[in-house]
Amino acid sequence: MTTELEIGLYIFILAGFLGYHVISRVPPLLHTPLMSATNAMSGISLVGSLVVAGADFGMLSTFLGFIAVACSSTNVVGGFLITDRMLKMFKKGEDGRGEREVRTRLRRRVVLVILVAGLLASIVWLEELQGFLRGVDPTNALGFFYIVSAVLFILGLKGLSAPKYARKGMFLAEFGMLMAVIGTLFHHDIVDYRWIVAGLIIGTIAGGSMGWWIPMTAVPQRTALSHSLGALAATLIGISEYVRHGAELVHDRVLMTAIGFEVVIGGLTFTGSLMAAAKLQELLRGAPITYKGQNTSNITLLAVIVGSFVYLIAVPTASSLFYLMTGLALLFGFLLVIPIGAADMPVVISLLNSYAGLADAAMGFVLMNKIQIITGSLDGTSGFLLSILMCRAMNRSAMNVLFGAFGKIEPEAARSGADDRGTVRSIVPNEAALLFDGARSVVIVPGYGMAVAQAQHGVSELANALGKRGVNVRYAIHPVAGRMPGHMNVLLAEANVPYDQLFEMDEINPYFAEADIALVVGANDVTNPAAKNDKSSPLYGMPILEVERAKAIIVLKRSMRPGFAGVDNELYYNPKCMMLFGDARDSVVKLLNELKNI
Ligand code: NAP
Repeated sequence: MTTELEIGLYIFILAGFLGYHVISRVPPLLHTPLMSATNAMSGISLVGSLVVAGADFGMLSTFLGFIAVACSSTNVVGGFLITDRMLKMFKKGEDGRGEREVRTRLRRRVVLVILVAGLLASIVWLEELQGFLRGVDPTNALGFFYIVSAVLFILGLKGLSAPKYARKGMFLAEFGMLMAVIGTLFHHDIVDYRWIVAGLIIGTIAGGSMGWWIPMTAVPQRTALSHSLGALAATLIGISEYVRHGAELVHDRVLMTAIGFEVVIGGLTFTGSLMAAAKLQELLRGAPITYKGQNTSNITLLAVIVGSFVYLIAVPTASSLFYLMTGLALLFGFLLVIPIGAADMPVVISLLNSYAGLADAAMGFVLMNKIQIITGSLDGTSGFLLSILMCRAMNRSAMNVLFGAFGKIEPEAARSGADDRGTVRSIVPNEAALLFDGARSVVIVPGYGMAVAQAQHGVSELANALGKRGVNVRYAIHPVAGRMPGHMNVLLAEANVPYDQLFEMDEINPYFAEADIALVVGANDVTNPAAKNDKSSPLYGMPILEVERAKAIIVLKRSMRPGFAGVDNELYYNPKCMMLFGDARDSVVKLLNELKNI
């Protein structure tokens, strides 16, 4: 066991470094698909769940394994489907292919995958048969399959370093998953397939529905939901393994430690992710829920969980304490997320992505399944890296995000000093259209409001109309505009905006001074000059899109209400700035109609 543990730890650490190397090369353009892809890959917990559901480990294990199979397969099917849907949307201006051609290619690929999977299944079966005949351990063949799958996963992530290769990469990852799953179906511990089949059917239907029908604007909550499913699978398998090994754990402290990690991290990730999904879906109030002594009580709860964990390593048979610890971990996940505002949920879901990866890796240690250790480590690294990137883009620390209750708007503070800032100029659509008629270059700045209004299609139509008039149109994408890293890119890709028109903050900022008009669509904080000029502003230090350097600025929003940070935007008092009040989708349509009439 110690050698196995050593090997497992080496694998975990090396996969983490490799993941960091590969994932840090993924451009911000593809950060949302990256999250869904790692999410789908972390559904590899399916292989461990299949064994527990199909083996003869007792009724409780079979039942928990069945639920874990359903949860993990939902993540695999849903995750890969939605990643593919997103990647299909990313088109370069000059080589945009028709939807029909893409569908035909996809169909051909599915047929190819089924054929090759069938072939592989026969090889595994033959290998198993020969292994039995020669008295060789048949799991060796499965081990090789897992190695190939791991390589395919890493190549899949590598593909995400450019939109051109992203779908091909994901195809390899999907293939890797299929190999691992089919290979596992021949695991020697599996004796009954009924619960496995039932779990796979439920997971495929649930994941398929989520993957096909969920709108792009709901991707953040879907991601949070799938983290919770992955974490639930890990927690249930942890409980099942604890029950199965029972008193044996006294002689295997390493296994007890791994089980403890699995249920604690899995438990808190499960409820934390459910809360995050509910806040993003607006089922719960988005504002931070705070109370006196919140941080102290949370830290005390964490200390009790850690204390119980340490005691259980020493006395693994204290089963009541084990269930109490699991319950407290579930409660901790819930309490950890309630004080965090909805707009900070992207950082939270990235962190929970990382925790879900760790829970998956812990499950890999419990079942000594190396592919799970690898994918858990990759998933953990990816989530951690995205969280760091987001915090950096907001100039905030992870501690401030988790414990700062940021986004709790104090109306008085938000408005203080607003009155002496000057006047705000508002315009109507036909005046704005006249300005566009005389423009030669326009920069469009999308933000969270564009997602809320679902205005991306109208914005793209407006940009096309301007393009036809010879106007040079570019889009400026801030790394944290919207509700998820890369969210704006996905929405604009959905509206057929070629990705070579999307510019990251550092690329576009020098260009603003040349732009005749900066059109801000539902973006607020990411354009606030106070981030550069006002040391007392909560936004101070956050890199922003330098919209104020454009010759004219038109802002589409409904009111003078502040954005997520709760602070007034200096930009709106700039004499060059004009406010076109109203829902962004309506305003864009009106603007387009007026432009057509000129
Ligand atoms: P924002 O500062 O939250 O502002 C969005 C604006 O959209 C609001 O001022 C709102 O004004 C407007 N709006 C809402 N619904 C609208 C509609 N239907 N039509 C027109 N306008 C509408 O958004 P942002 O500039 O995109 O900045 C994102 C914020 O989220 C940043 O503060 C960032 O730090 C935070 N954040 C993002 C991430 C990420 O990964 N993306 C991560 C962590 C935190 P009205 O109400 O007046 O219409």
